[in-house]
Parts: sequence; C-alpha cells; structure tokens
Amino acid sequence: MPAAGPMGQARPGERRRLRMVVRGAVQGVGFRPFVHRTANALGLAGWVRNTAAGVAIEAEGPADRLSVLVDTVLHRSPAPASIDGVDLDETEPVGGSGFAIRDSETGGAHVARVLPDLATCDDCLRELFDPADRRHRYPFVNCTRCGPRYSIVEAVPYDRSRTSMHRFAMCPACQREYDDPADRRFHAEPNACPGCGPRLDLWSPDGTSLARDDDALQAAAAAIRAGKIVAVKGIGGFHLLVDARDEAAVRRLRAAKARPSKPFAMMFPTLATVREACRPEVEEERLLGDPARPIVLIRRAAQSGLARSVAPDNPRLGALLPYAPLHHLLMHDLGFPVVATSGNRGDEPIATDEHDALRRLAGIAELFLVHDRPIVRPVDDSVVQVMCGRPQVLRRARGLAPNPVVHGGLPDGILAFGAHLKATVALTVGGNLVASQHLGDLETGPARDAYRQALDDVARLHEARPRLAVRDAHPDYASSRAAEEAGVPVVAVQHHVAHVAACMAEHGLAPPVLGVAWDGTGYGPDGTVWGGEFIRITEAGWQRVAHLRPFRLPGGEAAAREPRRSALGLLAEVYGRGAFGMTRLAAVAAFAPTEREVLRNALARGLNAPWTTSAGRLFDGFAALCGLVQRASYEGEAASALEWAAEGSRTGRSYDMPVVERGTAPLVVDWGPAVVAALADRADGMPPAAVSEALHNGLARAIVAVAVRLEAQRIVLTGGCFQNRCLTEATVAGLRTASRQVFWHGRVPPNDGGIAVGQAAWAAWRPRKEA
Ligand code: ZN
Ligand code: ZN
Ligand code: FE
Repeated sequence: MPAAGPMGQARPGERRRLRMVVRGAVQGVGFRPFVHRTANALGLAGWVRNTAAGVAIEAEGPADRLSVLVDTVLHRSPAPASIDGVDLDETEPVGGSGFAIRDSETGGAHVARVLPDLATCDDCLRELFDPADRRHRYPFVNCTRCGPRYSIVEAVPYDRSRTSMHRFAMCPACQREYDDPADRRFHAEPNACPGCGPRLDLWSPDGTSLARDDDALQAAAAAIRAGKIVAVKGIGGFHLLVDARDEAAVRRLRAAKARPSKPFAMMFPTLATVREACRPEVEEERLLGDPARPIVLIRRAAQSGLARSVAPDNPRLGALLPYAPLHHLLMHDLGFPVVATSGNRGDEPIATDEHDALRRLAGIAELFLVHDRPIVRPVDDSVVQVMCGRPQVLRRARGLAPNPVVHGGLPDGILAFGAHLKATVALTVGGNLVASQHLGDLETGPARDAYRQALDDVARLHEARPRLAVRDAHPDYASSRAAEEAGVPVVAVQHHVAHVAACMAEHGLAPPVLGVAWDGTGYGPDGTVWGGEFIRITEAGWQRVAHLRPFRLPGGEAAAREPRRSALGLLAEVYGRGAFGMTRLAAVAAFAPTEREVLRNALARGLNAPWTTSAGRLFDGFAALCGLVQRASYEGEAASALEWAAEGSRTGRSYDMPVVERGTAPLVVDWGPAVVAALADRADGMPPAAVSEALHNGLARAIVAVAVRLEAQRIVLTGGCFQNRCLTEATVAGLRTASRQVFWHGRVPPNDGGIAVGQAAWAAWRPRKEA
C-alpha cells in the first residue's frame, strides 16, 4: 500500500518531502483544489499540478501530516474523480512555505484519463433557475462537477486551451472563478457565462438566424408545442425533437426519417413525468438520475398519454432525463415529454456541426436550435436496461465513454477494430482497456468515414502507438479491412470467441469458462454462419463444444431482414421439400408462389442458402411461425416481438430440445422437436405468447443441459440474444438451480458493441499465456 510507503519509517514530526503522481480520471474534476485545500489545512508546503500522467503533487512537512495527505487523496477525492493508481516516492526537503497550484506540465507520456460528459449538477441547476444569478437561464452553465468533457476535448492534458472552448475568452468574472481555488469553477475548463461564452441561435432550414439567446430557446419551445420538428444541438450531437403526445407530429418525423417503426427515445421533463408514462423500478429510477444520464428502457404504463407511434407495439419505452442545461430549460418550458431521437438520416452518424446539420437534416427538421460551442466528436446517447436486477449497457456512448472497461494489468498498444454492426474500437493504454463510444453500423459511406476518424481519434487522444491490430475473422467487414491497412501485425479473432472474451474481461474471469455466445451472425471458420455457439475457453485456447442444429438460410443476408426466410429454413430442415407446401402457415403464405418455387430450387441446389447455427435467426423463424413479424424494418424487431409476447405468458411450459451427442463432434442442441410442437400448438389455437414462452424456456433448459453435460462450472452469457430478458433470466435461474456460476454483461454491451473489447482482451491474454 502506498500509504505505508516512505512515510512508514519516519518519526512523526520529522520534516519530509513527498512526491506523488495520481493516475486516473483526475483532471477537470476539482482534484487540484481538493489537494490544495487539504494541504493548506494540514499546513504543508509544496505544489500540485496537472501533468500528462495525471496529477503530480510535491508536499513537504511533518511525516505524520504527509501521511494524512496521502490517505485523504486516496480515499476522499471529489465525486467525479476516479483513481487508477498512485506512485509515491521521497525527495530531499527544500524548505519554503505555502502550497501552490502550478501550471500544467505537458511533457511525458499522456495517460491521464479524459472524463465522460457529465449531467448538470444540482448547484448549477439552482443557478440556472435563480433569477438573481448571473447565469440565470444560461444554457451553458457548468462547473468542475458537471458539464461537457469528452465531447469537447481535442487533446490531453485536459486544459481549456486543448478543448473547443479555447475560442471563447473568459470575461473578468469568469476568469476570477476559474483562478480561485476556493471556487467551484476553479479550472472548470468549459466555464462560461452569458457575457463571454457560447450563445444560442435559432435557424430556419436555409440557415437564416431567426432569434438569439433566450428568445431562440423560447421560439424553439413554441415550435415544438405547435407540432414542429426541431433539430437541437446538444452535447454529443443533434437531436430531433417533437411533441411525444402529438401522433401527427411523430408520424411526420417517422416519414421524414424513413423509420417506420423502430422505437424512438423520449426525453421527459422530470422523474415525476416519467412515472406518469412508465412503471420504473427503483434501479431504473436510479439510472435515469445517474450523471451519465443514459436512455433507460422501462416498462410503459397502460395509459402512457403518448402518441402510439413513438414505440408501436412496444411494451417498453426508452426514457431519459435532461442532461445539458439547454435541455433543462427547454423541458422546463415545455412541461411534457418529447421524442428525442438522434439527429441523423437512416444509418448515418449523428450530426454534430450546425452547418453540416442544415445539409444532412434538410427535409426533416423545420427549425434548428444551434450554438457555437463546437462538438469535437460525435457521442450518441447511451442506452441501458436492467437485467436480472442489475444495469446492462446496450449502447455505450455519452456519459460512459471513454472510461476504461478493464482497469490495469494489460499490455499497451493493442488496437481492436470491432465488428460490422454497432461498431466500436478499443485500445489498451496505461494498462487499461478503453473502448470508444458507439460508432454505429458500418453500412454507409458516412458511417465508415466516421469510423476511420474514430480510429485516428482514439489513438491520438491517448497518444498511443498501436503495435498490434485485432480484427474480426470476417475478411470482408469494413473494420477488418481497416485493420489490414493499419500497418502493424494483425490478428483475427473469431466473432463468438470475442463475445465470450468481452464478458470474461468485464468480470475479470480466467479460464476455464464455458461461453454461450448467441447472436445473429458471426463468421465461422468452417465457412458457415455461426450464431448459436457454446465456446469452451481453457488455458490452451478455445474450442466450439456445442452449437444449435444447423439450418439453411434461403436468400442468405436477406434473411436478416425477412424472418419468413428463417422460418422457411427451419421448416425445410424439419420437413424437407414438403415445407414449401405448408401454405396454411403465415410464414410460408407470406411468399408468392413464384418466390417459393425459386427458393425451393435454390435450397435444393444449395445456392445462396448458407448453413447457419444462428440463435438470432432461430428466434426470427419462430416469430414468423407465430405470425408476429414476416418482414422486419429494423434489426432485432422480430426477436423483440417474440420476447415481448413471452413476457406476458405464465404457463410454465417448455419445448423439448434434445442435446445430441455424436462422438467427438460438438454437441448439437436440436430445436427440431420444438418446431413440430410449436406448429401443433398453433394449430390447436394456442396464442403466440404461450408458444414463445415455451421456446424461451426450452432454450434456457438446453443451455443448462449442455453446461451439465460438459461439467462446466462457470458459464458466461454473451451475444445480442442475451439482451433478451426472458431468455437471460430463465437461463440464469436454471444455471443457478444447477449450482453453476453464471455471468452476464453489465458495463460492456452483450451485442456487437462489445466485440472490440473482447478482441483486445483476447489478444492481450494470448501473448501473456504464450510468454
Ligand atoms: Zn455543475
Ligand atoms: Zn463570463
Ligand atoms: Fe455478434
């Protein structure tokens, strides 16, 4: 322990001089004033300063008081700070008195952590609504405990000159606060006021300024009240806002964004208004108020008072509370919930620059509420749900990135390139594993451009020189190609191995582990599409020890958008050619006779009908067989519909899914009998809810059976399918009943947003093992 270090052998009153380097998230959080206050109270001499490594302290005085300083720094640091480590040593006393805060030192390796953007704190909120305060209704109020960080940082160490605030010269009043160690705004880098800081502007779609400052805000609020679509520049990018109670307005937004049914998130003025529309549990309410202010998925109330189109047929709503002062003002003035969806078109990245937004959101937004504080990098809202009583991050972005997801012990310089959907990149630096914010799907040119910018950004911001690139085994992903062009050695990690490694890394697990990696699609080394995998991790590496029974996907990639194709694949595997005549089934009837003929021939000849073990496609197929969704308008739509159907059902039934053993080959979980049983149930008039429940229970029991058969003690549940609460909760309960230890995702997304973390963790683990 550092506290028992050099001061340990000293006589209590002996004068000593201590050197201390504190690493972690310690800049821009009031850490130096805290050290300054503590040292002054102890009557110590010396100084504190920001460095590239974190915060450096030299303190001189009686040994016993120096020990108190060390203890206080380690254990009583201010709330947003988080300490990764402390280096202590001693130097010759130089005398002197008084304790100073010195200017930043910029040399050396930059490992000081940049903080995420933090929601407005209570003190700033009070000032915002206090008519007597000089920042009354000023939409950019902030202090060392809150405000933008990651979204405005251009370089480290974190200092105003290296943020996008450098263009605003502080007025004398702001400068006094900034320079006063006793002030809450001492070195609050984005410090500003109406006299010197960023300003609001309301633009028409052609960029004409219609109003400034508070007039702009009030006019924007009036437009939202009148049913208009308003683009609002926030912390990490633009939102599109529209009255969430106004069905016509929400429909216009859906039409303009070409987004027919994917749920919209909503911003509520207060927790009380969330409770009117939703049924939040205690943990969900805590998450709503967290300084990260994520979107929280919450069960909706029977009478939510919201437009039907905000989240059609969806039993859960994505809710968030205001996090920037601008949102607080707007929502306070409105008093009702608004749709707050990312300001982008289709799958493109979120717009961050107001001039760019005019072009990219043309034809969608009717007004633009903008400001002149530049956003350095796009950071979407994070998305969180409560899984088995604990928070689970589904999209890791604002408020969470760039916090490390693994602390300490990792070799530096590993850059992981992620997957294809829900792309992120990850980097090992300073012994930690940091992951980028969610970068979106790499489906469009603009998305791939943003991804490449993020790659440069993560290396530059952490001043890292990558020495190893890690990519998915899929050779054609844009991320895989980017890795090959990185100019350093490349290793490929199988997709589902990366999923398992991500979950192991977040829980600090060492082998042996049985990973259950279930998702939509991952490149299998045997040339088939994997996605219902059981991967055993041992010291020797990984092994596929079981998988779902394979079936063919008629039309290949198209199956991801059309659950009816998965259904046809399941039926063809069970019933052969007879499947194509089962036209009394909605999933088969959903094809025109000529389409069926084409698919039948394609399947017979194995053309464009890859084999798959995908659990995601299995769920899709069942959703289609239940008549829920034949064509999906967004990823996961069918699986979600099936999950929600099961949530309402309490029959306790379970389909039989035999675990088949074939010599030394992997075990096979056979869903065939479940298809037969489900069709019989449907023919008997059983509702989709009961069929879905029996499927979920059957799959959970199959996982337990595989774990028991393989004598696995520790099981991790990973992959996009384990965002499904019915599946995860049934599996966790079953494994616990079988006395197994079970782990699921919390900080790292279970979906492909966690792949980069898993890739980096796997690459970091392998070399050490081989060393
Ligand atoms: Zn504050
Ligand atoms: Zn000012
Ligand atoms: Fe995946």
